[in-house]
Amino acid sequence: MKISAVKGMNDILPPSVPRTEKLPDSALWQWFESAVRTVLGRYGYQNLLTPIVEPTALFVRGLGEVTDIVEKEMYSFVDSMNGDKLTLRPEATAGIVRAMIEHNALYNGPLRVWTLGPMFRHERPQKGRYRQFHQLDVEALGFAGPDVDAEIILLARALWRELGLVEGRDVRLEINSLGQPDERRAHRDALVRHLEQHADALDADAQRRLHSNPLRILDSKNPQLQSIIEAAPKLMDFLGEASLAHFDAVRAVLDAVGLEYRVNPRLVRGMDYYNLSVFEWVTDRLGSQGTVCGGGRYDGLIEQLGGKPAPAVGFGLGIERLLLLIQEIGLAVPKAAADAYAVVPAGSPLPRVVVVLETLRQAGVRVLQHAGGADGPGSMKSQFKKADGSGAAFALVFGADELAQGQVTVKDLRTGTQTLQPLAGAQAWAGSLKS
Ligand code: ATP
Ligand code: MG
Repeated sequence: MKISAVKGMNDILPPSVPRTEKLPDSALWQWFESAVRTVLGRYGYQNLLTPIVEPTALFVRGLGEVTDIVEKEMYSFVDSMNGDKLTLRPEATAGIVRAMIEHNALYNGPLRVWTLGPMFRHERPQKGRYRQFHQLDVEALGFAGPDVDAEIILLARALWRELGLVEGRDVRLEINSLGQPDERRAHRDALVRHLEQHADALDADAQRRLHSNPLRILDSKNPQLQSIIEAAPKLMDFLGEASLAHFDAVRAVLDAVGLEYRVNPRLVRGMDYYNLSVFEWVTDRLGSQGTVCGGGRYDGLIEQLGGKPAPAVGFGLGIERLLLLIQEIGLAVPKAAADAYAVVPAGSPLPRVVVVLETLRQAGVRVLQHAGGADGPGSMKSQFKKADGSGAAFALVFGADELAQGQVTVKDLRTGTQTLQPLAGAQAWAGSLKS
């Protein structure tokens, strides 16, 4: 019986493997990850890794019982060894906050961190929506001011620029302020009153949420509800002076650096824990899976999870969606081909060849060695064909004649020019192979 991957969970394959679905290959992932390291380093964020499995209670308490994730998307199970209730993490923030509390990490002051890895949600798989997907997660913990809200938004912009995406064209920024819990409560009461007046026109989903999570109704895509949503009381009108000042301060930084954004009063995020600034980076090029990055401030979460009260702000970026976008736009991604391909004719003394290849690799040359099967390395013709196909700039030909004179032929595969180089002291000419 053939065993296949779990539905909605994908293999990320090397570029040389033909793919049936047009999902980004591992070269694109590697390129993305190196851009992440570069940009996060520039802003002084440190990497951390947390477990993929956490106690179920962490997410129930952290995300809120009436969120989509906790209601229907979690992969939860009972550990058969001890009966513990566990969940494959659906997002990264709760785990990071748990770890920071557990290690008393904010004792010496605030912290800027990031992590990257798989998340799990039991959703209907489609383009840009999977059951195992990956996020880059960036969090600034212990900072209360609007400066760091602006910082993480600009950090995302720096990442777009590093990848060659154009803000405003490929990705657009939307921001909003959710105010503080008491302001939200006042707005919520007014919202429920408004929705109750139109109760007959609400769909089943909205009916269900009317009292559990009315804010999420504003997020509904149902066209029949749009006029009701349009006329609903706006949270912005319920914000007090301090909340408005925080929002204005974030906007002032974005304005100063010339980052365009849209204030979207309907922008509410899926998780209950957000307050003040929330934002999303969206694209028009991925259909309904258009949000590539979303985040905001969550000043109450650390305390809610049992830590000493501390403010925090962060975002999660959907890596599959971002790479699909990059693929869609057709951005030129640097290819990671070898510098040299070693052609090793039948009968060549392998140990002598490998000594040279190891010297070259130690000197930083990317060398792909032709490796044959049990019955030998194959003909010279087929080896040269492989050398051409590999994308390498040079072939190193370890023929019997050259070896007898202590030399190797270096063939420039683009021009056809051949030169001889000594086997001994290969580090002296290694530099001429590097691209
Ligand atoms: P959506 O409204 O599309 O379901 P979300 O609000 O549930 O998104 P978040 O929890 O904010 O998403 O996660 C941050 C980012 O992770 C999203 O903006 C998106 O890019 C990505 N993401 C979320 N769920 C998935 C998924 N099932 N498959 C692929 N990427 C996802
Ligand atoms: Mg979702």
